[in-house]
Amino acid sequence: MKDNHFETEAIRTQTERSQFLEHSTPLYLSSSFVFEDAEDMRASFTEEKERNIYSRFTNPNTSEFIDKVCKMEGAESGYAFATGMSAVFSTFAGLLSSGDHIVSASSVFGSTHALFTKFLPKWNIETSYFNINDVDAIESLIQPNTKILYAESPTNPAVDIIDLEILGKIAKKHNILLVIDNCFATPYLQNPIKFGADIVIHSATKLMDGQGRVLGGVAVGRADLIREIYLFSRNTGPALSPFNAWVLSKSLETLAVRVDKHCENALKVAAFLEGHENVSLVKYPFLKSHPQYEIAKKQMKLGGNIIAFEVKGGVEGGRAFLNKIKLLSLSANLGDTRTIVTHPASTTHSKLSKEDRMETGITDGLVRISVGLEHTDDIISDLNQALN
Ligand SMILES: *Cc1c(COP(=O)(O)O)cnc(C)c1O
Repeated sequence: MKDNHFETEAIRTQTERSQFLEHSTPLYLSSSFVFEDAEDMRASFTEEKERNIYSRFTNPNTSEFIDKVCKMEGAESGYAFATGMSAVFSTFAGLLSSGDHIVSASSVFGSTHALFTKFLPKWNIETSYFNINDVDAIESLIQPNTKILYAESPTNPAVDIIDLEILGKIAKKHNILLVIDNCFATPYLQNPIKFGADIVIHSATKLMDGQGRVLGGVAVGRADLIREIYLFSRNTGPALSPFNAWVLSKSLETLAVRVDKHCENALKVAAFLEGHENVSLVKYPFLKSHPQYEIAKKQMKLGGNIIAFEVKGGVEGGRAFLNKIKLLSLSANLGDTRTIVTHPASTTHSKLSKEDRMETGITDGLVRISVGLEHTDDIISDLNQALN
């Protein structure tokens, strides 16, 4: 049967109803499941039968959440995790061995960067980096032991865009795996598998939940690769809790309408910032002034909800601006109904050297704003008084 539209699958992809014929999927808080008899029990532990055994492996709520994300991303298979970072780590742990090599964009989520520099080297897995404005350099970084090409787009926090089609072609040519963290775009705005990605990762904590309540992560993609990631996870225990899966699956029902509105609001806020005299630079993928506007238009449905902008006056200017904010939240999250403002240079990325910060586009006065669903007049009014 042909799949329905995105919005319909988000709502109608559902776990089989129980004997109570409930309309909305119930919460299956059960750590384990029972067997009919000895033969059922034996078969359940082989490949002969796909069924729930123990919630560290699978659970009806996590399966429903995974099925939805697979439909949304056009993926064969997937697995859900306690956090976005456990999805990232388990992907590498499941697919790589000691001696393997990664080629990654230099601008990636802070904890992913820490994984590459501090932890994976403990298992003799090294990473080489390319600047996202220099995709031509990627091929020269690929070695005989390179297994994975890794990137995010849009990037956090600088909101740069990488051409996924080019990455897909390079990965294919060199027979390496392309892994994309698609968190900022959500499956509603961008489907990396269409451009050749083998695995797509999401922090479900962000726009997927969308209301700042639960942590979660998911990896979807080629079934043979997901099998490896699943076997690693099933035995090491980063599983998503059924409760969080239940929350996230409900949230996905409204992903399209929420993200549409987030993007509409963000475009208005970005246009306002671009016209303000105390702002020296605004980066939003669907503003014509964005350096990779054409690429963003090609691979994204809308521009997303994250804006990076430069307040005049460097680190002090950025901090002073934050101190004047009244309505909006100063918080480390993003993708919430509430608009969130952060200053990466003095917080999330303060441990990077100044050169490394500049390399990843995190200038002193850079402010990242995750535009929420409040009325845009109120968001703009708060930003305006703080900038003035
Ligand atoms: C937040 C985030 C992560 C990590 O997700 P958690 O759910 O916080 O573990 C990974 N990648 C990107 C791009 C993120 O924004």
